[in-house]
Amino acid sequence: MTLLSIEPRSCTDTSCRAKHAPGERVALAASLCGGRGAQLTKLRRQVLELLWESGRPTGAYELIEALKRRDSRPVGPPTVYRALEFLIAQGLVSKIQSRNAYVPCAHPERRHDCLFFLCSNCGASIELEDLRIGRLLSEHAAALEFHAARRVVEVEGVCARCIAAGAA
Ligand SMILES: [Zn+2]
Ligand SMILES: [Zn+2]
Ligand SMILES: [Zn+2]
Repeated sequence: MTLLSIEPRSCTDTSCRAKHAPGERVALAASLCGGRGAQLTKLRRQVLELLWESGRPTGAYELIEALKRRDSRPVGPPTVYRALEFLIAQGLVSKIQSRNAYVPCAHPERRHDCLFFLCSNCGASIELEDLRIGRLLSEHAAALEFHAARRVVEVEGVCARCIAAGAA
């Protein structure tokens, strides 16, 4: 799969609900990394593509299996974890602690706290941006004199599609 022809497009809609074409978001990630002098190597890029294509939080071992299928070259867990660490450090991926899984951040081009709604029935995740959440977290952290290292909000429940299908 070649993504070189895809141009990153900027999104100014803060309620777009992260509905973007995976290839376009990967191209955006590549251009962000390029601008920072960070190397989005082939493997890091493949991991990011797989996360975008998956559409739900994906665990490291699932990624390893998918990489094996894609490249027919076995990749060890430490390599994949290092790639994930890089993607997290660049703000391109968030870790969902409650599932021990990873999701791509829809808008790495804008600073924001990631807010995820996670469906416990179908496994889907929906990322929203709400600057009020970030402000609230900052205020509380400041009041507590707490240094926040990771600001990812996870909300578990059942998504609209599953509710419509009678799952809740
Ligand atoms: Zn958007
Ligand atoms: Zn995000
Ligand atoms: Zn669901």
